[in-house]
Amino acid sequence: MAMPHSAEPRPRLLRLAHGVLRRAADALLPPACFACQAPVETQGLLCAACFPRFRFIGAPHCHCCGLPFANAAAVGEGGLCEACLDAPPAFDRARAAWLYDEASKPVLLAFKYGDRTDLAPALARAMATAGAGLLVEADVIVPVPLAHARLVSRRYNQAGLLAAGLGRIADRPVAQTLLRRTRNTAPLAELSARRRAAVLAGAFAVTPRLVPRIAGRRVLLVDDVLTSGATANACASALLAAGAGGVDVLAAARTPPRADEDAPLDGTGAPRDLLAHG
Ligand SMILES: [Zn+2]
Ligand SMILES: [Zn+2]
Repeated sequence: MAMPHSAEPRPRLLRLAHGVLRRAADALLPPACFACQAPVETQGLLCAACFPRFRFIGAPHCHCCGLPFANAAAVGEGGLCEACLDAPPAFDRARAAWLYDEASKPVLLAFKYGDRTDLAPALARAMATAGAGLLVEADVIVPVPLAHARLVSRRYNQAGLLAAGLGRIADRPVAQTLLRRTRNTAPLAELSARRRAAVLAGAFAVTPRLVPRIAGRRVLLVDDVLTSGATANACASALLAAGAGGVDVLAAARTPPRADEDAPLDGTGAPRDLLAHG
C-alpha cells in the first residue's frame, strides 16, 4: 500500500507536547459538560440540559445487533430484529450507549475528526455502562482498525482510544494492533447492505503473530459508531476465522433504525446524513 505524499504526520514529539499541554490546561479548567461546555460538577459528565437530549439505548432492543425496537410489540422471534433473523451476523451481540442523532453526532464527529481526544474517557464510561454484560465476558478488547492512509492523516484511531479507555475501566487487556486492514476500502455510505458486505469481504485480517491471543477467547470489538454493522461483521468474521471463540461489539453510538427497515423510533425517521459511516 502506497503512502500518500500529501499527508504529512505532525512530528510525534510535537503531538505529545500538545497532548500534555492540553491535559495540563484541562486540569486547571473547571469541569465542563462534554457536549456543550456548560459547567458541571465532575469532568466527563453531561449537563442537566444535554443529558435528556442524548438518547441512551435501553430495552427493548434486538438481542443480537442491539437495534432499538419502537415498542415491545415490534420484537421479533427470539428477541431478534428482522435483519438478524434474515442474515445472522458473525458477531454474537452488539451494543451501543446512544442513538447516533442530532445530540450525539456533533460530539462523535469532534472526537473522530476534530482532535477532541479528551472526549475518550467520557465516551468509554458511557460505553462501559451500555456494554457491562459484554465487558464482563470479554477476554480481550480489540479496536476496529483505521486504514493506514487515514491513520496518517488523522493521527489517531478513535476506536483505539475507546478500546484503551474500556480496558482501563474494566481491567481487561487491549490488543491495539490485533486487527489490521488488508487494503483500503471506499466509503460505505449510500451502498446497499449486499454491496457493503462485498466491499468489505477480506478487508480485515488478524496480525499473524497475535493469533494466539484470541485462540478460543471471547473478543470485544470496539468502534465509535455502528451503522449497518457491515464493518463489525467483516471484523468479526476475520476474528472467528483466526480462531476467536466468539465476538461481541461495543460502540459509543449506533444509527437509529432506517425508515425503510423498521418502524421508526419515536415516530421520527433517521435523516439520511446520519448514515454516512461504516
Ligand atoms: Zn451540556
Ligand atoms: Zn438485530
